[in-house]
Amino acid sequence: MMNPLVINLQKCSLHDGPGIRSTVFFKGCPLECVWCHNPESQSYTKDVLYNEERCSRCGVCISKCPNDAIYTGETMICLDKDKCTRCGTCIDYCVNNAREIVGKESTIKDIVKEIEKDRMFYEESNGGVTLSGGEVMSQDMDYISQVAKTCQAKGINVAIDTCGYVKFQNFEKVMDHVDLFLYDIKLIDEEKHIKFTGKSNDLVLDNLKKLSERGANISIRIPLIGGVNIDDENLEVKKIIEFLKPLNIKNVHLLPYHSIGKHKYDKLYMKYEGEELFRPSDEKLEEIKKLFEQNNFKTKIGG
Ligand code: SF4
Ligand code: SF4
Repeated sequence: MMNPLVINLQKCSLHDGPGIRSTVFFKGCPLECVWCHNPESQSYTKDVLYNEERCSRCGVCISKCPNDAIYTGETMICLDKDKCTRCGTCIDYCVNNAREIVGKESTIKDIVKEIEKDRMFYEESNGGVTLSGGEVMSQDMDYISQVAKTCQAKGINVAIDTCGYVKFQNFEKVMDHVDLFLYDIKLIDEEKHIKFTGKSNDLVLDNLKKLSERGANISIRIPLIGGVNIDDENLEVKKIIEFLKPLNIKNVHLLPYHSIGKHKYDKLYMKYEGEELFRPSDEKLEEIKKLFEQNNFKTKIGG
């Protein structure tokens, strides 16, 4: 069994399922959504993050890197990602803490121990743990299933936050130990799904149908993004409603686009491709919420 990389274990989370939760963000995702606000969660390997505002351009990292992966660019200290082996030497030598590694192997024992620390908050708020990402369902499923099973055995509510783009066997491995799936639906139009996420939505929609047929407890999460799935006639939203109507699903959360994670792209030497995207107006959000409610979905704006 492989220990996946964990980016962060966020305590007292209020937007990743009911009550107060601890959210574990695993590293690596099969999709590349244009609007992704956690770009550090996309790759399955560690990343070296560069905080330019802390850098004094002393050049120590350049001289210490054993692989000649760092060099001076026109405006910043640059990284040749192909040469970087994530050895961490530059981080050890940077006195300004301008560089950091993202992603840490964590054993099941360590993760569960950390999750358990907030048990009191879960009990008082009907909260629990949310396994998220990146894409938690694309990690080593023996590991994930063991974490979920151990938490469940300790009486901790377990939620899985997923984009659904994995083989269904992965769901089968874990579903007996999961209390709630937070399942993302972005688009029904396949061409647009490929354009904005890099992958077809066949698997995503098919898995959702199967999960629903198996009686899983599911909340749908829909990112609402101007330039992606918002239009005057709400065509894409109406398609999502039609898809969800026959399924055994009652709760829908509408997640308005935000660009909070945009600054992280620079730190990771990545280009943000979502400059044209925008948050729908409050009126539009209310209009879409009403559409869902008219179709008997319990609908909330926000996580
Ligand atoms: S060692 Fe740190 S402060 Fe110096 S150039 Fe490298 S990143 Fe900047
Ligand atoms: S992590 Fe290692 S290989 Fe990568 S840039 Fe830093 S010193 Fe060089």
